Amino acid sequence: MARVVYVNGRYLHYREAATHVEDRGYQFADAVYDVCEVWKGNLVELDEHLGRLYRSLEQIRISFSMTRAVLIQIIKRLVRYNHIVDGHVYIQVTRGVAPRQHEIPSFSLSPSLVVIAKHAKVEKLEGLARKGVDVVTAPDIRWSRVDLKTTSLLPNVLAKEEAISSGAGEAWFIDRDGNVTEGSSCNAWIVTQDRTLITRPAGEASGILGGVTRKSVILKLAPALGLKVEERPFTVLEAKNALEAFNTAAIILIMPVISIDGSPIGTGKPGEVSQSLREAFHKYTDLTPV
Ligand code: PLP
Repeated sequence: MARVVYVNGRYLHYREAATHVEDRGYQFADAVYDVCEVWKGNLVELDEHLGRLYRSLEQIRISFSMTRAVLIQIIKRLVRYNHIVDGHVYIQVTRGVAPRQHEIPSFSLSPSLVVIAKHAKVEKLEGLARKGVDVVTAPDIRWSRVDLKTTSLLPNVLAKEEAISSGAGEAWFIDRDGNVTEGSSCNAWIVTQDRTLITRPAGEASGILGGVTRKSVILKLAPALGLKVEERPFTVLEAKNALEAFNTAAIILIMPVISIDGSPIGTGKPGEVSQSLREAFHKYTDLTPV
């Protein structure tokens, strides 16, 4: 079945979908994006993902006039056209096409919008969650506005590559004080010996992206399971001595971490708290309306 992609007003076959060579997203990573999970045909926390997308756009001053209602229509249509039951939707908005110059052109640009819908490999992902992932640490060399979901992801790409090439599944960034900021494509968590969930605070200067999945854990899943959450920095050493650790993101949901730089966490197997949070997330998304 041919995949269909949305590009600037048109639904195109994947093979034919393309943008302009002088799109500022391509030349300067002058662009923002978001990724929303599709679970049993439902768009999970779509409002939160779109809220973050529009905030990122506003913060880097891309004038994107499409209303949320129209964007939602496009997203839903694409999910339908591609028969996605479990998967993800990727939404990217760039500042638009203009002759290359660093400064933002004084004439008004038409932002480019691309939406891609993808099937998830559910069995593979669930298998990974049963096994857990190994993490390696890497210095956080990113810019200071990582609270915005921009496509400037080169440090993330290189850190993830380092993780994969050393046989791990994810990289955790470490700031200058030795604290964990977040993963290359996820938020990082630990569970203390008294079963408290710890994650770094989110916000403009926090050094992390305020993950939608992270927020669901804080506001919905942890309270439902009677777990306490503390938003504070934690060091690699504290993480290595934790009861459990896990990652969160819309693509992986709650993913147990079983080792950091080769040191096993807890029993070296996915912990009970992380697993019950993952189960609770599935139950919660089962009930999320379309
Ligand atoms: N942090 C980074 C750097 C990410 O790339 C992501 C997801 O892509 C997250 C955190 C998690 O965000 P969310 O839960 O909204 O997917």
